[in-house]
Amino acid sequence: MDVKHEMPPPEHIPPLGPAARDRAQREALKLEKRLCRQTGQAITDFHMIEAGDRVMVCLSGGKDSHGLLDILLKLQARAPVRFELVAVNLDQKQPGFPAEVLPAYLRALGIEHRIETQDTYSIVKAKIAEGKTTCSLCSRLRRGILYRVARELRCNKIALGHHRDDMLQTFFLNLFFGGKLKGMPPKLVTDNGEFIVIRPLAYVAEQDLTAWAAHRRFPLIPCNLCGNQPNLQRQAVGDMLRAWDKQYPGRIESMFTALQNVVPSHLMDGALHGFASLKPTGVPNAQGDKAFDEEPLECGARAVPTQITSKTSLQHNWSLS
Ligand code: SF4
Repeated sequence: MDVKHEMPPPEHIPPLGPAARDRAQREALKLEKRLCRQTGQAITDFHMIEAGDRVMVCLSGGKDSHGLLDILLKLQARAPVRFELVAVNLDQKQPGFPAEVLPAYLRALGIEHRIETQDTYSIVKAKIAEGKTTCSLCSRLRRGILYRVARELRCNKIALGHHRDDMLQTFFLNLFFGGKLKGMPPKLVTDNGEFIVIRPLAYVAEQDLTAWAAHRRFPLIPCNLCGNQPNLQRQAVGDMLRAWDKQYPGRIESMFTALQNVVPSHLMDGALHGFASLKPTGVPNAQGDKAFDEEPLECGARAVPTQITSKTSLQHNWSLS
């Protein structure tokens, strides 16, 4: 599974003195509030979870999916609507996969869960020539299995642990290598039309999930068990975004806000804007073309964007400050 940046095992974290422990606890509380607030806000903005939903939470054993399950459980306890969560892990029989770790963790949590064991590793190894990338067949097999499991568990939604940085990276990968202005959606119907995929961590920064995994000491499972090479293009885009943000702090937030602030008339997709039928309106419009003037740059960054402000979504606001 595509999990990144694992944490060191807890025994490698040096013990803290009392003052440092107090400070760490305060920081952890702030972090927990931020994670809950941002996740609740994304759920509200995109109407991700509604009353009566049964949500299958995909748990790979990496820091992101652990964080997702943990935060969703916290939100479920105080949400304005009732819904169910079922944690699902797919054991793909990769060599060295610690098969007992997640069942023990989920049993200790006392939540509904399912461990699905399917040896996709052998299938992929048998079908793909040595040295060729195995991810596309592996993902296709995994997708089919997860849809079947969601059906068997009577879940209508599938929650994935992708975060804000995954979404930005996907946008730039499509831009640089795919020739498309296309990102990773916070909510979309599955390709077979059967379920809704949701990404409740859409507003959460990866570094917050890393810190939360360390604080909660999740039993993380390494991400390189399949022996596949990491996606070098994704890695390069991730490095580029981190370097940009270091040089110009706030750039990540601005780019993320841009994903929610699309102006089709100022792009070049004829399917989104009627260039062919365009006529003068005779009415002044500040958004119209300013001909020779350079467009002024408006500062558009918002820490947590709020798109949908309908009465209903505000009434059911999940944000917890
Ligand atoms: S081949 Fe490995 S890295 Fe690729 S999708 Fe499968 S588990 Fe993830």
